[in-house]
Amino acid sequence: MPSIVRGACPHDCPDTCATLVTVDTGTGRATRIQGDPAHPVTSGFLCAKVNRYLERTYHPDRLRTPLRRVGPKGSGRFEPVRWDVAIADIAQRLADVRDRHGAEAILPYSYAGTMGMLQGSSMDRRFFHRLGASMLARTICAEAGRVGMAMTVGANIGTDPEGVPQADLIVLWGTNTLTANPHLWPFILEARANGARLLCIDPIRTRTAEQCDEWLPATSSITTTSRATRPGSTSCARVPPSGRPLASPRSRGSMNRASSSLARSTGAPAPASSA
Ligand code: SF4
Repeated sequence: MPSIVRGACPHDCPDTCATLVTVDTGTGRATRIQGDPAHPVTSGFLCAKVNRYLERTYHPDRLRTPLRRVGPKGSGRFEPVRWDVAIADIAQRLADVRDRHGAEAILPYSYAGTMGMLQGSSMDRRFFHRLGASMLARTICAEAGRVGMAMTVGANIGTDPEGVPQADLIVLWGTNTLTANPHLWPFILEARANGARLLCIDPIRTRTAEQCDEWLPATSSITTTSRATRPGSTSCARVPPSGRPLASPRSRGSMNRASSSLARSTGAPAPASSA
């Protein structure tokens, strides 16, 4: 007897798709996963990766036991061990570090492969806090973006996808939207049908860049927001790290072209070019 279980995609993806999973109540196995057609952003489809989620979940080659390395690093030699053996081994090593150097010699570092509250951001925190390990924002890759958002728009918030069709100019900055968050694309197409212009800033000419009105191959580490709305309320900015100059003449050229393009599209005065 099948039943439908509502869920949300656990991946670190801005689309946050709503899922409908069909479960065979006799066996407890999921037999189908689909996007929720009633969800305004998911619109009944999932990306290629999550469409095959069940295949991955039940794949016979999936790792089911811990593996212990038995050769030198890089040799690729591992042997399966029981869970209790693996946990005891790891606990002993952590205890050794704590006893010899103090608990702060342990630095937990991870990020959001799976964003469930249990797996992603709760139990491990409790464990390491209890242990007295060093504290880290847990991600060194997203922190620059978070701070950049706070500096430019005042908070670490995303763009409301349902507001995108009202934009006059859309800047896709360092995002391959068609691949990485495809559910934004229908809203972008709607904006374009309303006359919006599409600008892509990316060192790679991705398939998203191919679809835009303009592609600027920026190469430096620049943090920005991604959408301009009505003229006069442009929310784009560029923030070189620590106020240092952009990395290369090519980057500066790209940035100057981006600034000019934004100014053309919004009617706002162009900022002075960076040398
Ligand atoms: S686009 Fe794919 S990865 Fe992103 S939330 Fe939807 S199903 Fe998950």
